[in-house]
Amino acid sequence: MQSKKAIIIGSGVAGLASAIRLAVQGFEVSVYEKNALPGGKIAAFNNDGFTFDAGPSLFTQPKNIEELFTLAGEPIEKYFTYKKLDIACTYFFSNGKVAQAYTNKNDFATELQQQLHEPAENVHAYLNQSEKLYNYIGHVFLNHSLHRRNTWLHKRIFNAVKALKFGYIFQSLSTYNHKKFKTPEAAQLFNRYATYNGSSPYKAPAMLSLIPHLEQNEGTFYPDGGMISISNALVNLAKAKGVKFYCNTTVQRIIHHESKVAGIVVNNENIFADVVISNADVYFTFKHLLNNQRRANMVLKQERSSSAVIFYWGIKKQFKQLQLHNVFFNNAYQQEFTDIFTNKTISTNPTVYVNITSTMDQSHAPLGMQNWFVMVNAPANAGQDWEQLVQKAKTAAIQTLSTHLNEPIEDIIISEKILDPVLIEAQTASYMGSLYGTSSNSKLAAFLRHPNFSSTIKGLYFCGGSVHPGGGIPLCLHGAKIVSNLIATSNKATLH
Ligand code: FAD
Repeated sequence: MQSKKAIIIGSGVAGLASAIRLAVQGFEVSVYEKNALPGGKIAAFNNDGFTFDAGPSLFTQPKNIEELFTLAGEPIEKYFTYKKLDIACTYFFSNGKVAQAYTNKNDFATELQQQLHEPAENVHAYLNQSEKLYNYIGHVFLNHSLHRRNTWLHKRIFNAVKALKFGYIFQSLSTYNHKKFKTPEAAQLFNRYATYNGSSPYKAPAMLSLIPHLEQNEGTFYPDGGMISISNALVNLAKAKGVKFYCNTTVQRIIHHESKVAGIVVNNENIFADVVISNADVYFTFKHLLNNQRRANMVLKQERSSSAVIFYWGIKKQFKQLQLHNVFFNNAYQQEFTDIFTNKTISTNPTVYVNITSTMDQSHAPLGMQNWFVMVNAPANAGQDWEQLVQKAKTAAIQTLSTHLNEPIEDIIISEKILDPVLIEAQTASYMGSLYGTSSNSKLAAFLRHPNFSSTIKGLYFCGGSVHPGGGIPLCLHGAKIVSNLIATSNKATLH
């Protein structure tokens, strides 16, 4: 019997995972990518002797990657290795306090008690609750389509609903954290998790308190070779399973006959398939690939997630007090999010995140130097003057880092590249340059993300950060699994 054909539009992490899963199901899979290299937001580059991961820097839940290798029957160690970190992040507070977020729960709780005077039992209680929430609610949300009746009839849903106290939906993450912690520093540290899907802790529901479970309980990891190793490993696995890649190839249209998908248009040529999965931003999928402005506008009813300005700096010095992940907090956290989501600007005093992979792999910087990925949260692009905002972000980042590190940072930057929301959109086709698709800044945001399938075109599916369950590598990988399961179920139904 001839294999069914599947086409994936885009080779972001969700597109790659979908390709592997469908190849394992027996589909003949082709991936079309507009960029020269696969990987989407996961990319890397060299500049003046420094190596940088361009996009994501935090790696959690390697089990999602392991699952793909197990499924494909390939030994992961041949393709991908990684290390667990002892310290997830070093936090620098505006009052001069510094705390290490150890990935050992006891050490973390002791550290917050010693450095911030936060009672250790509060940290334990919070992380235990985070784990419970993740296991009950996260499991349902991350592994199932919320738009299929079967999901709601599943018996796990009863446990989830039991665990779902109103407080997790009707109060903000910040209100919740300030009730759970005695010190403002601990509340600020746990508020930051809202930014993991591009949201504000003052608007996003307390449900997001399940995110720390991933980083602090399950652990934080570093892929050998950097984040780019994730997409390289998935591309190699996909190729080993027979997936064909067509890079430098922009998909122009999705073809459908009445209510059934038929394929795509590439270089003005029709390419036919039984199943099409769009890993491109769902807004652009409707607007450009389906020529459906009405549906595209419906996607925009949900607020876009935040974006970022990133400075890739070559630093001619090593700072021993800095780890792989470092966060420098400001003393006006709420104002920072009002600026991002209401004023659509960058705060004058933003939080600064610094990722330094040369602390893990010295080959990423010349000897005695460091590669700094310096990120400042920014609004999604709405036509702001980015030249001016990038300068504002740079001035603020330099000032914050110089103060905390007691060193005029500007004098030791020897090379620089910059990424802003306009470039993020240009490079990864993410509408308005948002990092995570849509934000979670409303009580029901989790339920309002676009489904993983089209309700009007049979055989058309969606995966990636702009659709359910949302952005970030772990969620994108879960999304690919949901899509693959939907296709497997639909196939079974067709056969019977
Ligand atoms: P994307 O990576 O968005 O890729 C989509 C692909 O589709 C692109 O390659 C694009 O070129 C292609 N495409 C679009 N249209 C077409 C077309 N018409 N034809 C052909 N190809 C097309 N996540 C984390 O987990 N940890 C982090 O620390 C983290 N930090 C981040 C920092 C930055 C600066 C950015 C930008 C993102 C960060 N994220 C992080 C988010 C994470 O990178 C994304 O959620 C995830 O990588 C998105 O994957 P995706 O599958 O949605 O596809």
